[in-house]
Amino acid sequence: MRRGERPEVKTFTARSLSPLKTQPIVGRGALFQHCGDRDPFRRRPPDALKAGRAEGQPGENDECGPAPPRSKQGPFQSASRSGHYQGLNIFMPRVDIRALEPHSTAKATTGWLSGPLKALDDPEGVRVPSQLPPIIDAHVHLFPDRLFEAIWSWFDNYGWPIRYKLHTPQVLQFLFSRGIERVVGLLYAHKPGVARALNNFMIDVCSADSRVWGLATVFPGEEGAGAILDQAFRAGLKGVKLHCHVQCVGPDDPAMHEVYSACEEAQKTLVMHAGREPASPHYRCDAHRICSVELIEHVLRDHPRLRLCIPHLGADEFRDYERLIERYDNLWLDTTMALADYFPIPTPVRLLQARPERILYGTDFPDLPYAWDRELRKLLALGLPENDLTQILGQNAAALFDS
Ligand SMILES: [Zn+2]
Repeated sequence: MRRGERPEVKTFTARSLSPLKTQPIVGRGALFQHCGDRDPFRRRPPDALKAGRAEGQPGENDECGPAPPRSKQGPFQSASRSGHYQGLNIFMPRVDIRALEPHSTAKATTGWLSGPLKALDDPEGVRVPSQLPPIIDAHVHLFPDRLFEAIWSWFDNYGWPIRYKLHTPQVLQFLFSRGIERVVGLLYAHKPGVARALNNFMIDVCSADSRVWGLATVFPGEEGAGAILDQAFRAGLKGVKLHCHVQCVGPDDPAMHEVYSACEEAQKTLVMHAGREPASPHYRCDAHRICSVELIEHVLRDHPRLRLCIPHLGADEFRDYERLIERYDNLWLDTTMALADYFPIPTPVRLLQARPERILYGTDFPDLPYAWDRELRKLLALGLPENDLTQILGQNAAALFDS
């Protein structure tokens, strides 16, 4: 057992929980209305989705890697039968892991990832407990195969050992077969020039399974960044994911304004890893230098129409984010890895309690060093009020992304 780790919670909190209400609970001063069951991926025929793909961009007729293994059951069987899923294995340039490594001398020397972290051999549940309300995992990574493999290699070397090396079809089948209702699919461009292909990949994933709400990405400052996002939004993607550490672009970088504006105009959510942790000296820049809660406060103040979600509960500035989420109606946080009792931090329970209608349950699956349901079990063990838990597990994500 790791230093400081508490004994495993063996059982879920056995309480009767009400199902996901059709009318979401919106937060104080919520900036948007829930739109019921509208789902452009479900309503639009696949051809319409494909029509939204970028012309001249890599697509299903481009060079493809080896076909992903197909499951006997689950969403991919029907998708592959109907041919909708062909684009999943979209060509991506072979990813050299060196491109993800430092080229700058401005490296962090401290941070949660300053030394390799261990895997936890904790037991995993068979599925989510049936008494829970519908669960949306608001932070699931979905990448083309080669990019996934490069990312796993990076994590194995510099982060933590990846327990679930599953490609996108298997990621979705794994989660859905265990009772997760929906996932918010995230990816990010680690360099200019690949965002259109990544977005097309995500469009194809979403067109194959309406339980995936996919987000677009872009490399801030790349040529046509605004147009890349407009096109992705028109094709049905639900927002944007950026990763300041990997992209080496801080929230105050002038290149960000185009992204903020595109999201504001289209009323799409921006999920931006802009907290300082988990930081690694092996990122290309110092995350503690380019990210801070002060910079996020400037963004929230300057862009009141922007719906901004910060992963990892804003790690590691939990107290400051508590103040921010109380003050700003355009801020959301997701729980990703911050509740899992994996990093050497106290669980930021006060932040959950400060404004539960603004907290989304998310896991970072499949890039995890521990059991897929560890964070869920830890969350349930906190004994939050039933209504708070219902919001955190699904209602808040539904209200934020189902529009
Ligand atoms: Zn993540």
